[in-house]
Amino acid sequence: MPPIHHFECSRCQKTIAAGAPQTVCPECAGSLYVRYDLRSLAGVVGHESIAKAAAASPWAGMWRYASVLPEVEPVTLGEGWTPMLASRRHPNVFLKEEGANPTGTFKARGLALAVTMAKHYGFRKLAVPSAGNAAGALAAYAAAAGIEAHIFMPRDVPYANYVEAVAYGANVTLVNGLISDCGRIVAERKQVEKWFDVSTLKEPFRVEGKKTMGYEVVEQLGWEFPEAVFYPTGGGVGLIGMWKAFGELEQLGWVRPGKKPRMIAMQSTGCAPVVRAFEAGAAVSQMWEKAATFAAGLRVPKPYGDSIMLEILRESGGVALALSDAQILASLKDWARNEGIFLSPEGAAATAAYDQLLNTGFLKKEDRVVLFNTGAGLKYTDVTAKAMGLQRPLAAS
Ligand SMILES: [Zn+2]
Repeated sequence: MPPIHHFECSRCQKTIAAGAPQTVCPECAGSLYVRYDLRSLAGVVGHESIAKAAAASPWAGMWRYASVLPEVEPVTLGEGWTPMLASRRHPNVFLKEEGANPTGTFKARGLALAVTMAKHYGFRKLAVPSAGNAAGALAAYAAAAGIEAHIFMPRDVPYANYVEAVAYGANVTLVNGLISDCGRIVAERKQVEKWFDVSTLKEPFRVEGKKTMGYEVVEQLGWEFPEAVFYPTGGGVGLIGMWKAFGELEQLGWVRPGKKPRMIAMQSTGCAPVVRAFEAGAAVSQMWEKAATFAAGLRVPKPYGDSIMLEILRESGGVALALSDAQILASLKDWARNEGIFLSPEGAAATAAYDQLLNTGFLKKEDRVVLFNTGAGLKYTDVTAKAMGLQRPLAAS
């Protein structure tokens, strides 16, 4: 594992020395990237050694990329190295099944690394506002690390998120509002309570953990970039992390030379701040009023990383599009019945978006694409049942 060389601001490019824990850029409050000396690594570690080292470990998971993660003792529950499933109907479509992670979602990756670093730095209390899945993941990793977790999420999160967080022993507060209201509470109380805030993009390591999705996409496709990556975006950390990974892979010389993927972001028509900003040609998003969708992870009315996301979407030749709950539900049923995969509503936004971009001609059937199912459908049984109009039948008396 390489030592962290420095931190770099995503907005003003200021560099900050490694060693001490960081939150956001002290100059401009931009999110910080972790930087290594990749040039020295490029000559020493080839991508062939990744698989060899992983094979020697009982379950390396995302830590198979330890050579491009901070030099630290991992707090791990087996996150990462999730399946890349070939679609049964579309020959060039691959589904990255993030539901196979501990706690059933992609959030495990970022919080595994954030909690690992928190333990390394000696923090005792972590806090997070969450739309649901980050809460479950933080609660699990904090329990594994013996650190307190303080969690704030909307009152109507998928029930699984509430139950798991309580079971893991976290301090859970259900808030009458959205993740933005939860974020405000954490910001107001963190100083007095001595919480370290692991909010999306307000510390550098959740992005760093999520970047492993980008390494996996490329390795699982034979060290090649796909034409496009479909990624449902609430906070957008995965999209930002993967783009960082693609840049690093080029610098390391681990990927066959080719064009980086078009990054495609999907949101819900009930909460689409990034789509609206993308379409307007704006650099940042505006707060989305009255956000509502059964895709709970997409209910982020004003993501902190909006400007970074918008830059990536434009630079990659991608697009942002909004799907209605009806389109999302139709695609969820389609993939369950025809592929045997129970998608999360967010994942079904990705599959619905693929159908839409084929129809508009934005993509061709021959284009090799990766669609992200960011979480297991089983974490959403209550909200999905409601969307399907299902009720548990009354027991016969
Ligand atoms: Zn800055």
